[in-house]
Amino acid sequence: MCYIHRMKNFNEKMEKTKLFIFDADDTLWESGLYFRRAEKDFISLMHSLGFDPETLSSEIHIKDIERLSVTGYGANPYLNTLKLILEEKVQSISPYTITSLEHIAHSLIHHPLILLPGVLDSIAKLNQADKRMIVYTMGEKEHQISKFNRSGLTGFFENCTVVPLKTKDTMIDILATAGVTAEQACMIGNSPRSDINPAIRCGVNALYVKRPYTWLAEEIDFAEPELVTTIAGLDEILPMVGLT
Ligand SMILES: [Mg+2]
Repeated sequence: MCYIHRMKNFNEKMEKTKLFIFDADDTLWESGLYFRRAEKDFISLMHSLGFDPETLSSEIHIKDIERLSVTGYGANPYLNTLKLILEEKVQSISPYTITSLEHIAHSLIHHPLILLPGVLDSIAKLNQADKRMIVYTMGEKEHQISKFNRSGLTGFFENCTVVPLKTKDTMIDILATAGVTAEQACMIGNSPRSDINPAIRCGVNALYVKRPYTWLAEEIDFAEPELVTTIAGLDEILPMVGLT
């Protein structure tokens, strides 16, 4: 499947790239999958207590969006949202329910670290070709670093930076720390809101990794669609930089 729409002067831009900035969750490895599983498990738990799954599903999504500006991104804030919904709806919470919710939380926090197809090979080849690469992700620092350490990819990247929220300013900091100009950088990520728009607003080349499921809050329009190149996986980057 090919989604590629390439901006003008795309090849020139890729040749000039000195730093590849990779988002982590749902770009390098599976993440949203485990949030969806936690949500399904929570809905099943609530269903067992007599609540309607469909109503609950839309309530979770509304509360999830509402809490973002207060709690920030991450697994623990998300789990707090589920806990809050439980506390609002159930008068007297049984020990069984508390244990079930703890198991759901444990599965989400300690989910397996599964790389996406083509990631290991592409990252190893880019590294072999001496391309500079960093990981740039958002959420809870401890959880994100634990995933990075479990990924088996640490040796390929210069570092992994975790910010609470990705913005144009945090992107400018990333460039300054790495000592490259915007034109010398390429951002690769699956989120229009957090990865692509801040990058193109800084003049950074952006590769959008289109994934089958993206979290609702992250699905917004591109600031300048003509500046975005869409790919289906990281293996598409190799021929773009003259590698196979
Ligand atoms: Mg992501």
